[in-house]
Amino acid sequence: MIEFEQVGKVYPDGTAAVDDLSFEVEEGELVTLVGPSGCGKTTTMMMVNRLIEPTSGRILVDGQDISGIDPVKLRRGIGYVIQQVGLFPHRTVLDNTATVPALVGWKKARARERAAELLDLVGLDPGTYGSRYPAQLSGGQRQRVGVARALAADPPVLLMDEPFGAVDPVVRERLQNEFLKLQATVRKTVLLVTHDIEEAVRMGDRIAVYGQGCIEQFDTPAAVLGTPATPYVAEFVGADRGLKRLSVTRIETDDLEQPPVARLDETAGTVAGRLHTEGARWAVVLRQDGGLHGWVAADSLQGASGTVGPQARRMEAWVPVGAPLKQAFSEMLQHDAGWVAVLDGDRFLGVLTPAKLHEALRRSVDADAHGLARDEVEFKSISDV
Ligand code: ADP
Ligand code: MG
Repeated sequence: MIEFEQVGKVYPDGTAAVDDLSFEVEEGELVTLVGPSGCGKTTTMMMVNRLIEPTSGRILVDGQDISGIDPVKLRRGIGYVIQQVGLFPHRTVLDNTATVPALVGWKKARARERAAELLDLVGLDPGTYGSRYPAQLSGGQRQRVGVARALAADPPVLLMDEPFGAVDPVVRERLQNEFLKLQATVRKTVLLVTHDIEEAVRMGDRIAVYGQGCIEQFDTPAAVLGTPATPYVAEFVGADRGLKRLSVTRIETDDLEQPPVARLDETAGTVAGRLHTEGARWAVVLRQDGGLHGWVAADSLQGASGTVGPQARRMEAWVPVGAPLKQAFSEMLQHDAGWVAVLDGDRFLGVLTPAKLHEALRRSVDADAHGLARDEVEFKSISDV
């Protein structure tokens, strides 16, 4: 979808920002460009929408050499999100979001309708936030508006330059997750620039690790972390890359533990008996429809009459099977829980405990023939992360 063919850029003052860049971003793929400040990421990105012209090589978008496409027309098909967001301060959130559709000639009503849809999509209720001005939003909310605006005209390509850089780490992680969910539905071809390897690994289908003006490695997050191509990349991804693998190792059914399971409508006595026989101190509690309700302690069932329901506690920590270990970890932390339920749709598959999580991490590392030695994997306790 986006192809760089031996692209170079020398600025008029002689600065060679990038040299001989060749890579391709597939349709629907999210590629992160990561590297230290000044290595040429923004230059790379701005050449795609022709805000900067290359001095050598060529760039194709959807098979067409963009040097032959009118820049204004080109940009209609390319959403652009930048760190400073660049919202118009005197326009409402709704009008900001409707900017591009309005520019490309949509009728006002339709543009606003589309803007409301998009705000909803990025988690901002248009009824509440649509009429506010940018100054009346938090940093994270402004960033969401930036994303909504970039998506408003439904461009097939999205360029994002440090899009989550201006918000604090907690909000950043939430925005990243939200964007990933969004991307799973809209499937844009995305180039995302960041200087944060953590973000690159978490967001990218593939990562381009930049050295000075060139790409040192272009590969999947697991490959970049597991088998850094050069000493530079190894240093850049950092000594704690074992931990970062949490972000790229997915939960498999084999990783799960199978604690006893009870249903809300079973009688307390039956379940207490079962737990006693199995020597278990607690059970996962499911609703009548099989969905997760929470858990119940064996102690609390002793002598209880009626169903399990009144003794059961709610437990909201769950992740879908296939989610990265890191997501399970962060659920555990958020809910202060010793385990998380793993679901396939609504179906309960088992639970992931810190011990199992550790095992899964080791499995991932061991599976990597050239990867890390076991003792290089840093994994201490939940509180260390
Ligand atoms: P990054 O986004 O990775 O921080 P940039 O692409 O912004 O890097 O910059 C790459 C290099 O090009 C840097 O050395 C920067 O100083 C230089 N540069 C960027 N813009 C210009 C410009 N307009 N004129 C001259 N040099 C520039
Ligand atoms: Mg930059």
